[in-house]
Amino acid sequence: MGSELIIATGNAHKLEEIRAILTVPGLELVGLDAVPNAPEVEEDRDTFEGNAIKKAATLAEFTGKWALADDSGLEVDALEGAPGVTSARYAGEPPDYAANNAKLLRELTGVINRTARFRCVMALCSPEGETHTVEGRCEGYITDGEKGAAGFGYDPLFVPEGHNTTFAEMPPAAKNAISHRGRALAKALDEWRTILSGI
Ligand code: IMP
Repeated sequence: MGSELIIATGNAHKLEEIRAILTVPGLELVGLDAVPNAPEVEEDRDTFEGNAIKKAATLAEFTGKWALADDSGLEVDALEGAPGVTSARYAGEPPDYAANNAKLLRELTGVINRTARFRCVMALCSPEGETHTVEGRCEGYITDGEKGAAGFGYDPLFVPEGHNTTFAEMPPAAKNAISHRGRALAKALDEWRTILSGI
C-alpha cells in the first residue's frame, strides 16, 4: 500500500487545487470525505498560521497520519486587512460566497485604493506533533463588479498584479501558477520534499 497524506480541508475547491499542484510519487492525498467521523475544527485562532496548524494537528492526531491544512483569506488595504482570517464568514453564518462578495463590493463603494492580497498558510503536522509551515501571497486589487465563473470565493472580484482578468476568468492552471495557494505549495514541495517522500 502507498503512503497517505491527509488533506485537512472540507473545501472541495481547495482540495482540487492542492491535488493539482502537490504531486509526490507514491503519496496519495486523502480528503476529509474519506476520513470517517473526522472532527470539525473550529477556526478560532486570530492568524492564518494558528488556524492552519490547529486543523493539521487535530487531523494528524485523529488519524495517526501526517496531515496538511490550508488556512487562507483576502486582506484589503482600505479595510485595514479585513476580511482576513474571517474571509469565509465575512457576511455571517453560514459561509456564503455570493453574500461575501456583495458585502465586499458594498464596503468598497467609492473607494479608490482597492489594493488587496490573498494569503495562504500551509501547515504540515505529524501525529507526534512535528509541525512545519509555509506561506504564499498574491498581490492584486478588487474590481468594481464580479467577472468570470471559474474558481471559488472572492475569485470573481480579484485581479492579480500584472494581469487584467480576475482569477475567476483564468483557466485553473493559470490561477495555480501565481496564486497564494500555488506559491505556498511550490514552497512546500521545495522545503518539505524529504519529509513528503518519506511519509
Ligand atoms: P478558510 O481557509 O477555510 O478559513 O477560508 C478561506 C476563505 O478565504 C474561503 O472561504 C474564501 O472565501 C477565501 N479564499 C481563500 N482562498 C481563496 C481563493 O483561492 N480564491 C477565492 N477565495 C479564497
